[in-house]
Amino acid sequence: MKIVVTGGKGGTGKSTVATALSSELSSKGKVLLFDADVDCPNDHLILSTKIKKIKTVTQVIPKWDFSKCVKCGRCSEVCKTSSIVQIKEKYPIFVPEQCSGCKACMIACPTGAIGKTHKDIGVVYEGKNGNVDMISGELKPGEPVSEFVVTAAKDIVNEKSKDYDFILTDTAAGTHCDVITALLDNDIALAVTEPTPLGAHDLELILKLSKILEVPVKIVLNRSDIGDASLIEEIAEKYETEIISRIPYSKAILESYSNGDAIKNIHIEKLARDVMR
Ligand code: SF4
Ligand code: SF4
Repeated sequence: MKIVVTGGKGGTGKSTVATALSSELSSKGKVLLFDADVDCPNDHLILSTKIKKIKTVTQVIPKWDFSKCVKCGRCSEVCKTSSIVQIKEKYPIFVPEQCSGCKACMIACPTGAIGKTHKDIGVVYEGKNGNVDMISGELKPGEPVSEFVVTAAKDIVNEKSKDYDFILTDTAAGTHCDVITALLDNDIALAVTEPTPLGAHDLELILKLSKILEVPVKIVLNRSDIGDASLIEEIAEKYETEIISRIPYSKAILESYSNGDAIKNIHIEKLARDVMR
């Protein structure tokens, strides 16, 4: 079974729910937890899991042969990320950190002066905590394109998937490309939110996205007793989506979280049962 834990807004407890659910499900079958929040992967920290690098993720970047360059300036004109700076009558200067690998400069160059090479942009890690195996991607600081790292890590998850009963993906916050890549091909999405106006607003975005992607989605209302639950109930009704779990604020959850212990909680136990229904 493939479960993705997501949420339009950061800070709602998405990773807490994903890690707690992975620990709970590991008593029922083999679990692979995929941390797809490559800008800030932290599931291994929440579960005190040691991770090791298994893959370096690279991206195409241009490489110049100045013997063929006629200094026409076409490459810097087409570069949308300002990675190529050119002063009149001089050769182009390349800023690799900003390059997204779109290859537009290679296509635009009239003399074939631009070939390609690669740069390292991230890493895929694996780890193990009890019965929970983990794959996580991490983007190098300052790199602009995280999607390649998510895709590389997801490919590894897909290769391993036949060995597991449960694949649990923890996405980044938001509705951008990384989240879309992580959401696809799952049996169910759990949208974690909180009973606040911002939580309701961002929940609506993720419900809209899930509908477009045709991923069945249910709502997990975290810190359900703090704030105005009717805000979330209205959105749930509007999108005909079930609130599958209401997890009240709990000091015990916070203590487990800060100690790096797997969270044990009756609401997570019930959520695991309900997800498997
Ligand atoms: S590959 Fe794209 S982003 Fe990179 S330098 Fe060329 S045009 Fe700019
Ligand atoms: S487009 Fe090609 S020939 Fe023109 S400046 Fe760039 S590298 Fe040189």
